[in-house]
Amino acid sequence: MTHLDDAFLADWAVHSRFGAVPGTNGVDRQAASAADGEQRAWFAKLLEQRGFTVERDAAGNQFGLLELVPGAPYVLTGSHMDSQPTAGRFDGAYGVMASAHACFRVAEELRASGDATYNLAVVNWFNEEGSRFKPSMMGSSVFTGKLELEAALATTDPRGITVADALDALRERGEGDVFGGETGREVASYAEIHVQQGRSMEEDGVTIGLVDATWAAHKFEFRVTGAQAHSGSTLMEDRRDALLGAARLVVAARELVDEFEPGQLHTACGELNVYPNSPVVVASEVELLIDLRSPSAEVIRDAHASLQRTIERVEREDRVRIEVTAEHSWDRNPYPEAGVELAREVAEELSLPSDRVMTVAGHDSTNMKDTVPTVMLFVPSVAGISHNLDEFTEESDLVAGVNHLTGVVRRLAEGALTA
Ligand SMILES: [Zn+2]
Repeated sequence: MTHLDDAFLADWAVHSRFGAVPGTNGVDRQAASAADGEQRAWFAKLLEQRGFTVERDAAGNQFGLLELVPGAPYVLTGSHMDSQPTAGRFDGAYGVMASAHACFRVAEELRASGDATYNLAVVNWFNEEGSRFKPSMMGSSVFTGKLELEAALATTDPRGITVADALDALRERGEGDVFGGETGREVASYAEIHVQQGRSMEEDGVTIGLVDATWAAHKFEFRVTGAQAHSGSTLMEDRRDALLGAARLVVAARELVDEFEPGQLHTACGELNVYPNSPVVVASEVELLIDLRSPSAEVIRDAHASLQRTIERVEREDRVRIEVTAEHSWDRNPYPEAGVELAREVAEELSLPSDRVMTVAGHDSTNMKDTVPTVMLFVPSVAGISHNLDEFTEESDLVAGVNHLTGVVRRLAEGALTA
């Protein structure tokens, strides 16, 4: 370990305390929560101490800017600091801290050599997780023009608080853009590092994952409507049980998987809200979320069609109505090959075992790669435990990832992928 690695680990240790869940190693730091706000304030100070200027855009994305060459485009690197409720401390947060330290290191080198051609920026994207406010990857979606700012700001959490109000309460909503538009600032390229959230790298002895494609995903929010009734006295044939209809969809999502080759489809229902959710009452309304994910867009299409047939049958047989109230989807698509190759070369230089890997989960880079040259990296995740308090990555892998990302940022700052 070098003193630079120690510096990273020291900041990482402080950072992991924000939103820590007592008695565990994990965190609860949902988007624009008090813990997210405290973390952002601390992170802003850290960046400012290193000479960065901190700005937020109107969607709550937090940027640290280091202008080395007035007017030059920026190499941008980052991830997200928000978490799922009761989640691991590495997901997203590691990427932001690794990005900050990679930029600190490259900035030192460029200041010393005086040959900077690009500027450096770190980003903490707002609401990547989409747990408190849907959809996920909200900040980077607005940034890349895939989601309207007004729609994002008007989104409410389960208590009816809007994104705009939640950000304002933390003083984390900026006035306008930080890049593009009238700012005159441009992003030249983007890099992100994340824990894998799967176990293949650990099993294969791979330290650096070169992400070459993302799985396709289709997420549905369904509303099942029946009729409220007494759960004891109402005759069975008179019932229109919304929870029964929803339960059939939950089971159908699991059974869909068996219609395809092993490993070709992942499905889940991650959220279920039952109304009135009361003893002695047959539910009148249930809202539920179902995710379909696959390395194949065709599998997603076929799975969707099959789910649709189930919906029609459940509506008929259980006499409930099932509507899709929102959808969020992305195709299987590749990361730019030049970025994969650049990352492979850096791993080789550092003698770090690397291999190509697909990402099953969505990341902010999934948005960014459609707008600028992008590099996406993984470090291993022990046993692939993810969205869980026990998520863990070895210190040596954290350090290797920072060193690797530093190499990538250095190359990007020299004009790799953009010259
Ligand atoms: Zn993440």
